[in-house]
Amino acid sequence: MLSPFRCILLGAPGAGKGTQLTRLVKHHPDLCTVISGNLLRQEISSKTPIGLEVENTIKKGGLVPDSLIIDLIFKNLKIEKLLNDSRSWLLDGFPRTVTQALKLDENLSKHNSLINLVVELKVPESVILERIENRWIHQPSGRVYNIQYNPPRVPNKDDVTGEPLTKRPDDNAEVFKKRLETYYNEATPLKEYYQKRGILHSVEGETSDIIFPKLIKLIENKFSV
Ligand code: ATP
Ligand code: MG
Repeated sequence: MLSPFRCILLGAPGAGKGTQLTRLVKHHPDLCTVISGNLLRQEISSKTPIGLEVENTIKKGGLVPDSLIIDLIFKNLKIEKLLNDSRSWLLDGFPRTVTQALKLDENLSKHNSLINLVVELKVPESVILERIENRWIHQPSGRVYNIQYNPPRVPNKDDVTGEPLTKRPDDNAEVFKKRLETYYNEATPLKEYYQKRGILHSVEGETSDIIFPKLIKLIENKFSV
C-alpha cells in the first residue's frame, strides 16, 4: 500500500515518461495519470476550438499558452476527481514553466493536496535522438511503441484495437531538436523551484528497464505504509 502521492514526472521529450507511466500503472493500478500532450492531441483530433488554436504551435515544437494548458489540466483533474486527499496521481508534461508550477500549487493548496514528489528522468541525448526515429503511436489512446525495443504484435497496428499506428507530426529531426532545446531551457528554473521545496529527485539510465526499478524504489521508499 502507498500513502497518497502526487507526482510530477520531468524529462526531455523521448526520455520515456510515457513508458514509465504505463509500467507504474501496471504496478499500482489505482494510480491515475494526466498527460498534457495526450490531452492536447485529443483536442486536435476532435477539432475543438482549443485543438484548432494549438495545432500549429505543437507541430512546430513550441509551447502552448500557459493559461490554456492550465485550464485544460484543471478541468481534467476535476473530471477525474483527483482534487482531494486520498488519491495518488501523476502528471506528465505539466507543469512546463514556473508560471504553470505556481498556478498548480496555488490551486492544489486550496484542496490540501500539494505535489509531494518531482522526478526527472535523465537519459543521454544520443539515446533520445535514436529513440524518436523509432517511435510510433496509437493516437486515440496515446499508446507508444518503439519499432526496435517495444514493437507492436502486428506490424503498424495497435495491440489493443488493431487500429493503425502513426508518427507524431512533431517527431521529425528538425522539430525534435527544437523541443529538446525548449525542454532544457524551461526545465532549469522549474527544477530550481522544486529543489527549493525539497521534493526534486532524479533517476538516470540509458534504458527504460534500468530506470523503472529505480523509479519504483524511490516511490516505495517514500510512500509505502
Ligand atoms: P514526449 O511525449 O516525448 O515526452 P514532449 O514532452 O515534448 O515529448 P508532449 O508532452 O507530448 O511532448 O507535448 C507535445 C507538445 O504539446 C509540446 O511540444 C507543446 O507544444 C505542447 N505542450 C504539452 N504540455 C505543455 C505544457 N505544459 N505547456 C505548454 N505546452 C505544452
Ligand atoms: Mg510525452
